[in-house]
Amino acid sequence: MFDKILIANRGEIALRVIRACREMGIQTVAVHSVADADAMHVRMADESVCIGPNPSSDSYLNPAAVIAACEITGAQAVHPGYGFLSENANFVQMLEDHDITFIGPRAEHIRIMGDKITAKDTMKALGVPCVPGSEGGVDDVEEAKRVAAEIGYPVIIKATAGGGGRGMKVAQNEKGLEVAFRTARSEAKAAFGNPDVYIEKYLQKPRHIEIQVFGDGKGRAVHLGERDCSLQRRHQKVLEEAPGPAISPEERARIGAICADAVAKIQYAGAGTIEFLYEDGEFYFIEMNTRLQVEHPVTEAIFGVDLVRQQILVASGQEMEFQQEDLSIRGHAIEVRINAEKLPGFTPCPGRINQYHAPGGLGVRMDSALYDGYSIPPYYDSLIGKLIVHGRDRDEALARLNRALGELIIDGVDTTIPLFRALLQEPDIQQGNYSIHWLERWLEQHA
Ligand code: ADP
Repeated sequence: MFDKILIANRGEIALRVIRACREMGIQTVAVHSVADADAMHVRMADESVCIGPNPSSDSYLNPAAVIAACEITGAQAVHPGYGFLSENANFVQMLEDHDITFIGPRAEHIRIMGDKITAKDTMKALGVPCVPGSEGGVDDVEEAKRVAAEIGYPVIIKATAGGGGRGMKVAQNEKGLEVAFRTARSEAKAAFGNPDVYIEKYLQKPRHIEIQVFGDGKGRAVHLGERDCSLQRRHQKVLEEAPGPAISPEERARIGAICADAVAKIQYAGAGTIEFLYEDGEFYFIEMNTRLQVEHPVTEAIFGVDLVRQQILVASGQEMEFQQEDLSIRGHAIEVRINAEKLPGFTPCPGRINQYHAPGGLGVRMDSALYDGYSIPPYYDSLIGKLIVHGRDRDEALARLNRALGELIIDGVDTTIPLFRALLQEPDIQQGNYSIHWLERWLEQHA
C-alpha cells in the first residue's frame, strides 16, 4: 500500500479523498493555487505545496507542477478527483514515466472514452446499446443532411471532444441543420480545439440514467446500479438520486450486467460511469466517464461502500473488497449540488462566508470545504457543497432532504438552496416523475 498520496484537486472532492486516505493510514499531500492557500483541503492534508497562480491552467491543470509536487514530497500516487487532470491521458502517461501511480484507469482507456466517437464505436462492439446516429464523425453539411434524413428529425449534433454539456446543437428539421452543424463545429473548435462532430437522434423525453462500474484492471468488474441524473440545467446535473425512480430491478440487472461485462472485457481499472439516455424501456449509451463522479455518494449510500477506498486499493495492486453477489441496495439516496450562484440567472456568486452550519443527524452527509470566514475565490467551479441524504425509501429520503435543507446555513453568498426547497414542493419531484427537460421547463415558468 502507498505511504503517501497527493490529491491533485481542491474543494469538497479533495476533502473526500483525504478522508479515505486517513482511514487507510495513508499520508496526504494537498496542492493549491495562491488563492487557495487558506482552503480547507490545504488545512486538512498532512502537507501542502503551492503549485502556481490562481488560474487553473497555471496550477490545478498544470501536469508538470503536480509532478514536481510529487517529487518534492515523495508522494507515490496521485488521486485526481473529478475535473482538472482526471481525464487527461497525457498526464497519466507523464506520471507513469516518473514512476508515480495514477489512481484511475489506464491512459489507453481514458483516451478511448475521451473521444466520444471512438467511445461509441468501442461500446457498440462490446454489446452496449447506443443512440442511433452517424457511423463515426460527420465532416460536411451534405453528409449531415443525409445522416439526419436517415435517422429522422430532430437530431442533435455533438462534439466528439465535448464535455460539461458544451458543443451540442439540436436541429428540428433540414432547414435548421445547416446552422446547427456549422455552429456546433465552430463551438467545438473554440472550446476543445477539435471541430469534429457526430450526429445522434435527439430523444424527446428521456431520463439520464448512468451505471456505476468498477473494475480490477485484470478482467473482473462489477456494477453498482444506476443513478438518475435527469434534473439538469443546460445539460448540467443539479440533483441526483439512486436507485432511479423509473428503473425496475430487472432492468437494472440487465443493463448492469451489460456494463460490467463491457468493462471487464477491456480490463478496465477502477471507478467508471457509463451514461445512458433511457426512454420507453430502452437504454441508449451516450458516453463513459473514466473517473469518480460528483454524484458518487448516492451510490455509496445505498450500497454501503467507499468508492475512493476501492480506487486506492485497486491502484495499489490489491483486490477490490466486493464481488457482484456481495452488492445489494439498501434504501434510497438523493444528492443536491449546492452552488454559489444567484438565482434566477445562476450567475456565479463568489465571496465571503460569514456563517456556515452543516446539517446532521441520521442519514445526512454534507461534503463541503466551507468554513466560517472562508472566502470563495472567483477562479473555479461554483460547486461549494453536496448534501446527500439516505433513507429507507424514497419518501423518507425526500423528507430528510427537506429537513436537512432547513438546518443548513450558508450566510454571505447566494446559493442554490432556495431552488431545492422549491423543487421539493413539486408533485412531479415528489413522485420522481421527470425527464431531462423537466427542470428547464420549470425554470422558465418560475423565472
Ligand atoms: P457532456 O459530456 O457534455 O456532458 P453528454 O453526451 O453526457 O455530454 O450529454 C449531456 C446531456 O445532454 C445528457 O444528459 C442529455 O441531457 C443531453 N443529450 C445528450 N445526447 C442527447 C440525445 N441524443 N438526445 C437528447 N438529449 C441528449
